Amino acid sequence: MQLIDIGANLGHDSFDHDLDAVLQRARDAGVVQLVVTGASREGSPRALELARQHPGFLYATAGVHPHHASEYTDECDAELRALHAHPQVVAVGECGLDYYRDLSPRPAQRRAFERQLQIAVDTRKPLFLHQRDAHADFMAVMRNFQGQLGPVVVHCFTGSRAELFEILDQDWHVGITGWLCDERRGQHLRELVPHIPAQRLMIETDAPYLLPRTVKPQPAHRRNEPMYLAHIAGELARDRGEDVAVTAAQTTANARAFFGLPRRD
Ligand SMILES: [Zn+2]
Repeated sequence: MQLIDIGANLGHDSFDHDLDAVLQRARDAGVVQLVVTGASREGSPRALELARQHPGFLYATAGVHPHHASEYTDECDAELRALHAHPQVVAVGECGLDYYRDLSPRPAQRRAFERQLQIAVDTRKPLFLHQRDAHADFMAVMRNFQGQLGPVVVHCFTGSRAELFEILDQDWHVGITGWLCDERRGQHLRELVPHIPAQRLMIETDAPYLLPRTVKPQPAHRRNEPMYLAHIAGELARDRGEDVAVTAAQTTANARAFFGLPRRD
């Protein structure tokens, strides 16, 4: 079984002391490639650095998460564009809107999001997007770029049935995380995932966040790791009523096509 984690925040400082062991455990669990999420002005060059240290295994995105939208200056825009000149940077993002935490003012979030969409237009790279409690504004911003963008994935989808169908109507991809395994807030997702067409589905851990609550026993440190992608694939397959080998093969093929990753044996 070959799995691809399309969203892992491996530049997070909780991985500083044992990243090699984390990557080995991921390999042992069938994870053949990972896309390291770049989510800030500081974190995006770090994601690229990791990709360059592990060629063919790690890839990176470069972007500024809505939480950090306040730091999106002209200089920051120029830095991101320079990062996108590197072939290991395979998508624009993480970017989008987050009105749940509102860590940056909403107008700043919308501006940073639009500027990164323009980078995607100019570089023709796929988009790795974040949306939480901001669906209507998110769709409105995206409408302004209609017809100009390449492939889009809404990562860590946690929204409603209506939101899911609007996303699928746009022919965008959907990223599923261990949120699915959260009996408190992910129950509705279990009923929605069978409706995602096989060709639009990808999987991710969002490590070190979102440790799947159905992993037993729960590690004492509570840190999520890419090795748990196999657990997420298993839960997703069960909810979709298909063999995990089918879910794995399909999501891996989708991720390769979406990010333009080479095959691995
Ligand atoms: Zn996110």
